[in-house]
Amino acid sequence: MTDFQYNDIRFADIQMLRYQVPGFEALTPRQRILVYYLSEAALAGRDILWDQNCRYNLPIRRILEAVYVEMKNGKWKVKNEGEWEAFETYLKRVWFANGIHHHYSMDKFQPGFSREFLEGKLREIGYPIDEELMEVIFNPDVLPKRESQEDGEDLLQTSAMNYYAPDIRQNEAEQFYNAMKQTDNPHPVMYGMNSRLEHDEKGQLVERVWKSGGMYGKQIDRIIYWLRQAREVAENDAQQAVIDTLIDFYQTGDLSTFDQYTIQWVMETASEVDFTNGFTEVYGDPLGLKASWEGYVNLKDHKATWRTQQLSDNAQWFEDHSPVDPRFKKEICCGITAKVVEAAILGGDLYPASAIGINLPNSNWVRQEHGSKSVTIGNLTHAYAEAAKGNGFRQEFVADVETLQLLDKYDEALDDLHTDLHECLGHGSGKLLPGVDPDALKAYGSTIEEARADLFALYYIADPKMAELRLVPNMEAYKSQYYSYMMNGLLTQLVRIEPGRQIEEAHMRNRALIARWVMEHSNGAMEVEKGEKSYLVISDYAALRPVVGRLLAEVQRIKSEGDYEAARDLVENYGVKVDAALHEEMLRRYRALDLAPYKGFINPRYHAVRNKNGEIVDVEIEYGEKYDEQMLRYGKENPDVVSE
Ligand code: ZN
Repeated sequence: MTDFQYNDIRFADIQMLRYQVPGFEALTPRQRILVYYLSEAALAGRDILWDQNCRYNLPIRRILEAVYVEMKNGKWKVKNEGEWEAFETYLKRVWFANGIHHHYSMDKFQPGFSREFLEGKLREIGYPIDEELMEVIFNPDVLPKRESQEDGEDLLQTSAMNYYAPDIRQNEAEQFYNAMKQTDNPHPVMYGMNSRLEHDEKGQLVERVWKSGGMYGKQIDRIIYWLRQAREVAENDAQQAVIDTLIDFYQTGDLSTFDQYTIQWVMETASEVDFTNGFTEVYGDPLGLKASWEGYVNLKDHKATWRTQQLSDNAQWFEDHSPVDPRFKKEICCGITAKVVEAAILGGDLYPASAIGINLPNSNWVRQEHGSKSVTIGNLTHAYAEAAKGNGFRQEFVADVETLQLLDKYDEALDDLHTDLHECLGHGSGKLLPGVDPDALKAYGSTIEEARADLFALYYIADPKMAELRLVPNMEAYKSQYYSYMMNGLLTQLVRIEPGRQIEEAHMRNRALIARWVMEHSNGAMEVEKGEKSYLVISDYAALRPVVGRLLAEVQRIKSEGDYEAARDLVENYGVKVDAALHEEMLRRYRALDLAPYKGFINPRYHAVRNKNGEIVDVEIEYGEKYDEQMLRYGKENPDVVSE
């Protein structure tokens, strides 16, 4: 594959990348067929996510794509170039975000074309004009935010997400779910996770469950169809049982079956091909209960897995030596299986913007009693690193040549190691005190959890144990990670925020929180030197690690005790506010580099190879598909359903 290009197109604030799946060729034909079926299952739930993000997303996508297809077919002599260009950009952004709100800032996109323009084109192709949809697209005051995190507001009323019917208020939803809490049950299900909360005709609160025959039943049936094909070519009995239990869950919507499935999935570690498929992360729900749909398929990367194996083999050592209060430590660190994988397909909430490290399941007791699976997606991090080569970013923001050389030398490898530590040890470490409600930190829970995992990683990446395990070449390498992490948290991540806004996304809040807290408590070892250009200067790296350790101990205490007030203070004081002048400077310097702050991936395409009888005997991989072709194809292969 000599002509493989990592970079594809750019639009708005997005750079599309491609990733390679070198391990695919090394699989057996049967394993390749398994990848194919699981990939189809991972793509089949796409429209669930679109509808979860906002109830208008699917009908809006339908009309935008109808106009786009006619335009590409040459229906119109393109006269008004400006509006067409704006229209294309808007649709590309909507595709990327799986809806009309920005995937990261959660703000609704403002179209750069007029309502007359769109209505005119729709009329020409015989589409009726839906006033309500037009309002949603063009009126900036209608559903301006997908997910609000504004302290003190009704988070449901101010959020456009579709996990709750539009008339549901935050306090009634919270009351409804508080009543479900089983604090005395050591094995509580993740209640609320797979349903939309609504009022029935009598005004009673009811959950409309996402399952076969229920809400999203059509998509779920299609997922089940592909999973049934996959189970026939599973690598072993255990994997087949995992798939069967997942199908059972999709059919019944029963959350205890879901826990059963995750337990079987955690235990199954022998296979080369693994997958996630289902309602998974709760970041999209302001109340942190309802899970967005995602799916992906991965292959083991044997060479790189050695690295994470070292970590998981020593998990108990790390737990024992961490600076947190012994009461909050796990006595027996069980079953964290960590591996480096190659993504073979990304779907749902992992497409096109994807996480690079994933640790599942999310149920606290399942993790404590059965462990978790943690992956670093090596082919994605590599694609990022390739795309970043020579783009001028570091030259602009790093303080001096020595630090620049430090980063050039170690940063890619240390970034991977940070992700490994974060996913395979950080999230898996520690425990809640008995009786502490796992949701006690409410809206601050995600930020605190991410901070905990990052701090664990930052603390240990500077530990001599890393060199002893041959995970770093020397005791200088960690400095590159300290510098790039803190620079991001204090300065450069600000380029992802619109002028005038605060920090809202959980991972960004967590990075700001850590970097600012550590700086404030570092006695000058780390400072931002302001001038025409502001730079982070770290004069004493060794002094930072104990500070990181102190914050780790405090964040673990907050989590273990469920100390909501302390979580709120920490996040609101360190993780939210933006210094307007510094923000403006970062945006200006960043703009001059002409880079895209967000990246996402175009999937490879899999083709089934059939014999004379039409049976699939092998699968081939192809990389060349264009962004718009892929998006249109996904829409066509999995036709949507209208919600409500
Ligand atoms: Zn994390």
